[in-house]
Amino acid sequence: MRERLQHYIDGKWVDSEGGARREVINPATEEACAVISVGTKADVDKAVAAARRAFKTFSQTTKEERLALLNRIVEEYKKRGADLAMSMAEEMGAPVSFAGTAQVGAGIGGFMSTIAALKDFDFMEDGPGFKVAYEPIGVVGMITPWNWPLNQIALKVAPALAAGNTMVLKPSEECPTNAAIFAEILDAAGVPPGVFNLVQGDGPTTGNAISSHPDIEMVSFTGSTRAGIAVAIAAAPTVKRVHQELGGKSPNLVLPDADFATQLAPVAMGPLINTGQSCISPTKVLVSKDREAEAVAFYKNMYSHTPVGDPMAEGNHLGPLVNKAQYDKVRDLIQSAIDEGAKLETGGTDLPAGVNRGYYVQPTVFSGVTPDMRIANEEIFGPVATILTYDSLEQGIELANATEYGLSAAITGDPAKAAAVAPKLRAGMVAINNWGPSPGAPFGGYKQSGNGREGGLAGLKDFMEMKSISGLPA
Ligand code: NAD
Repeated sequence: MRERLQHYIDGKWVDSEGGARREVINPATEEACAVISVGTKADVDKAVAAARRAFKTFSQTTKEERLALLNRIVEEYKKRGADLAMSMAEEMGAPVSFAGTAQVGAGIGGFMSTIAALKDFDFMEDGPGFKVAYEPIGVVGMITPWNWPLNQIALKVAPALAAGNTMVLKPSEECPTNAAIFAEILDAAGVPPGVFNLVQGDGPTTGNAISSHPDIEMVSFTGSTRAGIAVAIAAAPTVKRVHQELGGKSPNLVLPDADFATQLAPVAMGPLINTGQSCISPTKVLVSKDREAEAVAFYKNMYSHTPVGDPMAEGNHLGPLVNKAQYDKVRDLIQSAIDEGAKLETGGTDLPAGVNRGYYVQPTVFSGVTPDMRIANEEIFGPVATILTYDSLEQGIELANATEYGLSAAITGDPAKAAAVAPKLRAGMVAINNWGPSPGAPFGGYKQSGNGREGGLAGLKDFMEMKSISGLPA
């Protein structure tokens, strides 16, 4: 079993001050594969103090120095791709081929989009009779989830460094090793002591110590809406900036005359990628009533032919869900759809054929789903597509917007027609004949999907303060 009991604070690996041990369970074997110490308030205090000290000098570094640092991190990161992939395969069940390409690559993507934005960024802007200076905020607390772990870490750490902040990261307790390797990468790249600190731990202890900390000026959180609300409440008394990237319930609005053969496949695949564990997964499929049978046949064919298997084996199969809680939740939602009268087209609650342990779920498709069903409203976070129908495109748009979330929406069909629909969707991201984010585009949501944006220029600005200066010499 891998031991990751130390935190990375002030440029050194240090023991926890009284942190309890917490095991990480491999979701394919249901056996412990790693152990961490749950960071205590004392650990967080120590990390924040180091970050405050480092802020004095790091906030004064030049754009060129920060660009050079970010580029060195990318070089070091590339050297550790195989270690990162293996740790994610073991701890979160992402198949090693997928982990090594998509998961590892997403982390590099976060750095590259920040580097591109920083290169062109002007830290001083002219206004009519004033100037605006963009300055680092201070010490940033970061709390991240397990589903795209390096993507979420990079989308916070890269812009925070680019802006001149210092930081304390608490990654997910479900897959801590990629974050520990990430700390080793930053150390090897020469990030000065105290600029980046890593405290392992859980939400209620370590996460809460960060959210409520009086010497942290901003908390950037990615995770569930439930925990995001807890973070905002804990942060409120210190009036820190709260940056939230939360849950989603994304539609795939299939236009009445969409060409399924060429346009549907890339979007239909969305809920399968990463075993459905993506905040922007387009699970709520909306099709015109007269094309329902065709859409059902399309999804059923794709999902019933998607293999599931060992994450340690190379290949294009799906791995298990991350943990028992997620497995129980997804199976409960599948059962709820059956109980509420949806038609199970493929998949279901049983383990896939040939598997007798692990948190595996079969790729599942439901038709006959109605807007009142639980599965049409709750975030699924598993390899499940639900097919609903509309009578008119207006009704389809209404159904797409009928959610408390507003993270992303996919539209399948003629791009010119989709362009006219995009402004009517209440979501932070709209993808036409696709479902993933565009590199560098603002990533974030409307409504209960969050506050603020990550990636590229928008992400960079969210990690800065703005200072207006008037009365300057002409
Ligand atoms: P989660 O909310 O359970 O945990 C996320 C992080 O928050 C973890 O590090 C956890 O330890 C911490 N946490 C939990 N309770 C906390 C508390 N009370 N105070 C402080 N920290 C706390 O989410 P998860 O299961 O790890 O991730 C899945 C969720 O993340 C899904 O809802 C998904 O949609 C969302 N997500 C959103 C985005 C986005 O960019 N909008 C990206 C990825 C995942």
